[in-house]
Amino acid sequence: MNISREQKHSFYTSKVWRDLRAYKLSLSPCCQCPDCLDNDSITIADSVHHIVDIDINFDLRLDIDNLMSINSLCHSRLTVTNYHKQKQLEKLKNKNNNNKIINKLIKATQP
Ligand SMILES: [Zn+2]
Repeated sequence: MNISREQKHSFYTSKVWRDLRAYKLSLSPCCQCPDCLDNDSITIADSVHHIVDIDINFDLRLDIDNLMSINSLCHSRLTVTNYHKQKQLEKLKNKNNNNKIINKLIKATQP
């Protein structure tokens, strides 16, 4: 599923999301990321993470079971290791493909 930047923006700024987010943080005030759970650390959550990214399933954006209270530092670590890492790899792959094409083109122009 491809969600536009505008759709995402209007979702993250909507009242329903802000209310749900505050509700989730009131239910689970501590970070629920795998690292904190594994280490029994008590870190105050200041952010709410979609377990299944809204890019993957937009229908789960307001599903309380798809939400995880998280500390923003843990969040950036988690998103980098999961979804975004994959995206970065895809981008890199595309770049490499482009490089191959460019190299072919360069070779073709050489005598
Ligand atoms: Zn954490």
